[in-house]
Amino acid sequence: MARISRIVITHHQLPLEPPFPASWDTRPRTRFPATLVRVFDDEGRVGVGSGDAMLGFSNYEHLFVGQEALELDRHHAILMNIDFHGARPWPLDIALWDLAGKTQGQPVWKMLGGKTPRLRAYQSSGVHRSIDGMVEVATRCLAAGIPALKVRFGRKDLSEDLSVLHAIREAVGDRLELMVDCNQGWRMPWDTAPSWDLEHAVRVVKELEKLRVFWMEEPLHRGDYEGMRKLRNRGGIRLAGAELTREPYEWRELLQRDCLDVFQPDAVLTGGITGLAPFAREVAQRGRLFSSHTWGNGLGIMANLQLIAGTAGETFVEWPLDAPEWTPERRDYLLQSPLELDSEGWFTLPETPGLGIELNEVMLEKTLSKTATFH
Ligand SMILES: [Mg+2]
Repeated sequence: MARISRIVITHHQLPLEPPFPASWDTRPRTRFPATLVRVFDDEGRVGVGSGDAMLGFSNYEHLFVGQEALELDRHHAILMNIDFHGARPWPLDIALWDLAGKTQGQPVWKMLGGKTPRLRAYQSSGVHRSIDGMVEVATRCLAAGIPALKVRFGRKDLSEDLSVLHAIREAVGDRLELMVDCNQGWRMPWDTAPSWDLEHAVRVVKELEKLRVFWMEEPLHRGDYEGMRKLRNRGGIRLAGAELTREPYEWRELLQRDCLDVFQPDAVLTGGITGLAPFAREVAQRGRLFSSHTWGNGLGIMANLQLIAGTAGETFVEWPLDAPEWTPERRDYLLQSPLELDSEGWFTLPETPGLGIELNEVMLEKTLSKTATFH
């Protein structure tokens, strides 16, 4: 059995000109940071992962070096402890799965028991544009064959958000499924705005029901279980959430208390593939949807799509895309070439062992950075 010989972590930053004004961030982003984790075994293989910045991880590296690489459950237990005491170390779990796949000659989705490599995407927009601008985004989404579009709420006035949604529905009719992300579950470090309260969320949900929205995402703070349950019990719309919720007992609590229809924990930021695979199966068995948050870089998208195809399958998966500020080239700059959908919005996972990605070493060299933050 191969043993882990070393773990190498590098930080990267892609300059963004024009900047990316993410709707959930109060500061336009002038750079796109990424952290890459490479785990090597003593037979010369390497697995890669990305996601969280892995700050402070060097203090824990000795807990993995010299251990058998394929003991994923053991590594996951240590990663859970690190997650509790410090930053989110989940990119290492992703890298260990990539390594395990390469060792066993299998793609990750097959190792997890997946039956089909095909997943259908929804376009996840990220910018608050004018009404005309948003209608254009929707029209382009339709023309690209993508069957669903997620729109961001959170403009100064609710009426502005609703005008955008009305205009999109009017322009595309029922040819697109529409999701709405309220982004009230968590905040960026510099943002002190409170989350919506239940009363406001109810006001919004009534409007979304009229517009036949497929799911309403993060309408309340991530810990407002009772609020989510009440909102969901109205029965008019699917509720989605838990994208960065980090503890497995919290995911289960949300499932058992009937708070959500769509569960979105992101494997590169919470739980890893090892922690989320059993939960995703449980969600599917209960007749709910599992569709990870994937907003981040292409390596993270691939890790989550491998997880979904290997477990729950059968759902729309998040495809971050909002040109010109958020293009596949920017999003996937760690990769040799950007990930692509076919002309009907399907993504087909590769048969290549592990995650099936190839790094762009030239770009990685060019974007090397000492820090892994947005500024
Ligand atoms: Mg979201």
